[in-house]
Amino acid sequence: MPEGDTIHSAARRVGAALIGRPIVSIETPQPRHALDRWPERLEGRAVRAVDARGKHLFIRFEGDLTLHSHLRMTGGWGVYRRGERWRRSPRRAWLVIRTDEHEVVEFDGPVLELMTDSRTRFDRRLAALGPDVLAPELDERRFLALLRSDDHTRGVGDALLDQRNIAGIGNMWKAEGCFLAGIDPWRRLSDVSDEEVLAIVRAVRPLMRASADGGRLRGEHWVFERAGLPCRRCGTRIRARGQGDDNRTTYWCPKCQG
Ligand SMILES: [Zn+2]
Repeated sequence: MPEGDTIHSAARRVGAALIGRPIVSIETPQPRHALDRWPERLEGRAVRAVDARGKHLFIRFEGDLTLHSHLRMTGGWGVYRRGERWRRSPRRAWLVIRTDEHEVVEFDGPVLELMTDSRTRFDRRLAALGPDVLAPELDERRFLALLRSDDHTRGVGDALLDQRNIAGIGNMWKAEGCFLAGIDPWRRLSDVSDEEVLAIVRAVRPLMRASADGGRLRGEHWVFERAGLPCRRCGTRIRARGQGDDNRTTYWCPKCQG
């Protein structure tokens, strides 16, 4: 599942391909968008910015119109040179934007909508997002205030996945962050200090930043998807169990995070 670093990385690549380049065509191949007339509404407008917030990506056009997307579990962005083969089937494309040099494609995009810039500021779902974990300066006070107003009996691992507390952390970075900070993801919020929860976020921020900048591969994990394998630090078997309302599998070392 794409997490904040993946979306920020996509925003950078999409921006490099589109900003300031004449747009040759915009297509929305899925029937759901057939009546939206986006190609007509966006015709002749240049892309002035592409940015990400948490797992949301915004392509901002001249004249106050913005394409907002959220990939949920399976979506992805591709940026290809014209004529280059796409890595997913064209049948799964929801949005294709072409310039003379590039094709920018969103695949499997369940949330894709055209809105005014002002609506991106006041939309209820977007306004409810917590601070972006990848913001240059994380608003730690706001993050802690949101977390402390959450259900105190919630496990810290589950609470970190809630985008209303902090935006951009997904299941993988949650598990890795809890390991790096030595915090059991099952501990209740009421039993975790501010310093401890900040330690988790401060541990993942530079790693996510490096990943967003394309500098680190996501392959080597401490605990994520390593159930039953020996902990890389102490040799104890990594445990795994579904957590929270969505039953997302969380991974932890019972010794390092005891
Ligand atoms: Zn361990």
